[in-house]
This record gives sequence, structure tokens and C-alpha cells, in this order.
Amino acid sequence: MKQILIITLIVFVQCKVEAQQINTDSTQIAKIFDWSLNHAKAYDNLNVLCKKIGHRLSGSAGMYKAENWALRTLKEMPFDTVYFQECMVPKWVRGKNENASFVFINNKSSKTKGKYGKLNVLSLGNSEGTNGKPIIGPLVIINDFDELEKRKDEIKGKIVLYNFAFKQSYIRTFNGYGDAVKYRSTGASRAAKYGAIAVLVRSVSTAPDNHPHTGALRYDTNYAKIPALAIGVNDAILLNSLYKNGKIDISINSDAHMEKDTIGHNVIGEIYGTNKLKNYITVGGHLDSWDIGEGAHDDGAGCVQSMEVANILAAINYKPKNNIRVVLFANEENGLRGGTKHAEKAIENNENHIAAIESDAGGFSPRAFTGTMNNEQLQKFKSWLPLLWNYGITEMNSGGGGADIGPLKEKMNTPVIGLSPDSQRYFDLHHATTDVFEAVNKRELHLGAAAMAALIYLIDLNGL
Ligand SMILES: [Zn+2]
Repeated sequence: MKQILIITLIVFVQCKVEAQQINTDSTQIAKIFDWSLNHAKAYDNLNVLCKKIGHRLSGSAGMYKAENWALRTLKEMPFDTVYFQECMVPKWVRGKNENASFVFINNKSSKTKGKYGKLNVLSLGNSEGTNGKPIIGPLVIINDFDELEKRKDEIKGKIVLYNFAFKQSYIRTFNGYGDAVKYRSTGASRAAKYGAIAVLVRSVSTAPDNHPHTGALRYDTNYAKIPALAIGVNDAILLNSLYKNGKIDISINSDAHMEKDTIGHNVIGEIYGTNKLKNYITVGGHLDSWDIGEGAHDDGAGCVQSMEVANILAAINYKPKNNIRVVLFANEENGLRGGTKHAEKAIENNENHIAAIESDAGGFSPRAFTGTMNNEQLQKFKSWLPLLWNYGITEMNSGGGGADIGPLKEKMNTPVIGLSPDSQRYFDLHHATTDVFEAVNKRELHLGAAAMAALIYLIDLNGL
């Protein structure tokens, strides 16, 4: 009887402690969101990054300007230390000349003169150009890689257009992106294998417009490095409709080329943990962007949200036990050198990484966190969902992370978590000239910053 009483008492005390903890957590999280929606500076910071600096591809003048701005800005924020972490980055240059046009001869018409038109194009990142003179050749339209294999004997000496349409039926547009992006990243070499002289890739875009969307390609060094350019979705649709009725010749002109690697930097701010151990919780986004537009959603948003975490924790007067490290990573877009260097340094310095969080999916309303970690950690991570539900986070799932924190997962088995905002509009403007500050909503951006700060607070307090 006495034993039962003692056990009941212990369970009662435990439940009370847990209930008190949940109450404290929900009060703190309410404060985090309240403060962020009313006072956060992320939107103002994004305005400066987009409008005063603009795009910032690795190795460009914009990259250096952005790094210096980030260092200065972090120094004005409540960090204990702010520093550059050097890494070599690739330098790809688009060059001045970049254009493409077509001439169409209708098989069914008696007219000998062809229809001429210009195409909206952007060279793909890391692509070679046409070496000062246009490449002209007959067009072959290929809808997917299966068709490429079937028609491989028709490819030699031709310009291939990959006309793979972004599948609109996916509710999460990242699934559609994953499905379509292989034509951009590997299509050039796969066509070069069969003798193609250049490729055009239908833009990986959800938008019903004609803005080309760039992005990195990877050459397979076994084959010729042929020029590769993204073309607007409407232009791809037009070429496809003409192709059925005749012959199309394409002319491409591009100065794109790679230069020597150059020095870049991760820009880092740290809040020292009260336990004075080498335990880290990392939060970040990538500071580089493509050399067009302003890199507002990709990934200026993730950078200013990560920076804001420091303001938020200070505003609620929370002193973290662990070191909180904010990293604005270098060179996510065409090399991942910043993320790789950060993980290498973490190993070299014997750091213990409790978790890493990345925001690199746009500055839209936060909807979910997705994490890659072991089962026990996943249970704990998922148990926090009720605390975030009221703020629009309705899912905490397994399976996510971020490109820049991927090397921490690979090399140190760090649990990695990605912020998943609403994805409906992201691929309308991802890697296009339309990714500008005006496309970002202040409240949505600040909700995302608050969600990240809340998760960091929970991980810091409870461990993972
Ligand atoms: Zn990105």
C-alpha cells in the first residue's frame, strides 16, 4: 500500500513538472511569436540585402559586398562573436552575350521563308558558352530521358530541347522540382554523350509565364562540355507546337564560362552557451544567390531569418545553455563549398553538434519542420508539434534537412532539420529574375524566423 502511494506521488509530481514545463514552453513560444511579428528586423535586413547589394553569385563583386554587409550587421546584433570562415569557391561568369533564336520552316506551307523568333534564355550555372561565335543547329525535342535513349541515333550534331513539364499535380511543389530538375542538372552531358552540340532546358517552374529559371548543371567529364541554357516555359510550349509541323533551327550565343576558384566566406555569429561546452545548435541559410534577380526568397529570406534568431532569444531574455551558431553559408548554389568547409572545421575543432536547422525553401508562411535523425530523436522532435500548432506549423515529419547542413549530417551524423514553408509560389520565382524583395511578405517572413527561434529554444532546453 505504502509502495503504491509512493509511486502515485512520484507520477503525480512528474506529471506536474511536465505540465509546468509545457506551460512555460508555451508562454515562451507565445512571446517569441509576439515579439517577432511586432519587432523583428528580418524584413528590413532583407530590404538592404536585396536593394543595396542585390544578387551575389559566388566569386562576384556582389558576393563580397554581401559578406561585408553580413559581417557588419551581425556585429550590431546580440552575438558574442562574429567572424568569417574562409573557403575557396568556384567562379562562374555568365558574360555579356547571351541570346538564342529560332527559324521555323513549315513543311506544310509553300512559303520558303521561315518564321523567326527570339527565345527567352538564361545560361545554366556552370555551363560553358559558345566561345565567341553562335552555335547553329537543327532542334530535336525530347520529352524525357526514356525518349532520349530511344532516339539517341538522332541526336548527333543537333541542339536538344528537354521539354519536361513541371508536374502541377504535386501538392508539395518540392516533389515536382525533384522530379524535373534532373534535366537541368544532368541533361547536357546525357545529350553530349550522343553527340548533341548544345541543350535547351524547359525552365523548372510552376509559373504560367516566360521567365527563364537558371540553376546549376553538373558536367560528366567523360563527355564534351556543351552549352546549356534554360528557356522560358512559354517558349518551350511554342517550339513544341511548331516542331510538329516542320523543321526548327536554333542559334545560340553565350559568353558563359568558368574562371579560377576564388576566396569566399561563411559569415558566422555565435551566442555562447551558459554551459561553456563545445555543444552547438546551428541555424542558417545561404548567402549566395544566382546572378539575376535579388535572391530574396532563395535564400536572402533564410539568411535574415537565421540572423533574427539572435534578436528574438535576446528579446525574451533567454540565455541558451548551448552555443547557438548562425551561419550564412557561402556557395550553396553551384558548389556547396561553404557547407562542406563548415562541417570540416567542426570536426577539426572537436565540436559536438546537437542539431542544425536550415531555412532554404522560401520566406513564405511556415507550415512544417522536417528532420532527419534517429527514431528516439524523432519522437522527441515530433512531441513538440502541439506547442507550434497555433502558429501554423501543422506537421513535424521525418526526412528533411538542408543542402548546407547536409555535410554535418554526413560527416558527424548531426540531426538536421529544414523549415518547410508553404510551397505554392516558390517555384514561380526560384532562380528567376522575379525573385525580388517585393515578392516577400513581412509577416510570413517573421513567422518563419519565430518558428526557427521557437524550435531552437525547445532543442536547447530539452536536448534532442
Ligand atoms: Zn537556396
